[in-house]
Amino acid sequence: MISDLNYEYRTGIGTDIHRLVEGRQLKLGGIAVPYDKGLLAHSDGDVVLHALMDAVIGAAGLGDIGLLFPDSDPQFKNIDSKELTLKVRDYVASKNWEVVNIDIIVNAEEPKLGPFKMQMKRCIADLMDTDFINVNVKAKTNEGLGEIGTGLAISAIANVLLRRRLKRTL
Ligand code: MG
Repeated sequence: MISDLNYEYRTGIGTDIHRLVEGRQLKLGGIAVPYDKGLLAHSDGDVVLHALMDAVIGAAGLGDIGLLFPDSDPQFKNIDSKELTLKVRDYVASKNWEVVNIDIIVNAEEPKLGPFKMQMKRCIADLMDTDFINVNVKAKTNEGLGEIGTGLAISAIANVLLRRRLKRTL
């Protein structure tokens, strides 16, 4: 544990990958991205928010997304990942954690995500109740390699730093 006089800090990491299929809307970072395919999943398949949630849950030491929202549970079928992200935000906030910063990489060969990064940042900042400047989103291709590079899937990696105020008795 890293700590200073007033706060304890913890980092968390999350990853996710889903298969691209026709007939689904593409949701990334909480926004709809125009494309002729979407991500196949029990929920809406938003790999960015899924990676983010796992990073946040991990930083708080509270397990993982599958533990909180089992995909065998029908109440989470096709659920908007923004709703799940709000539940995660509230859960970690109930343990007094707040976001210091979030850094995310989205790996997609297509579509080009550059024009959507700012919207994703804004949406993620709102969902996690943090300032816009505390969220960073990077979009990369996979240089044509593997399942990402051939357009079969999109993946995301998230890194999060949380902090909470130390309780002190003087
Ligand atoms: Mg997922």
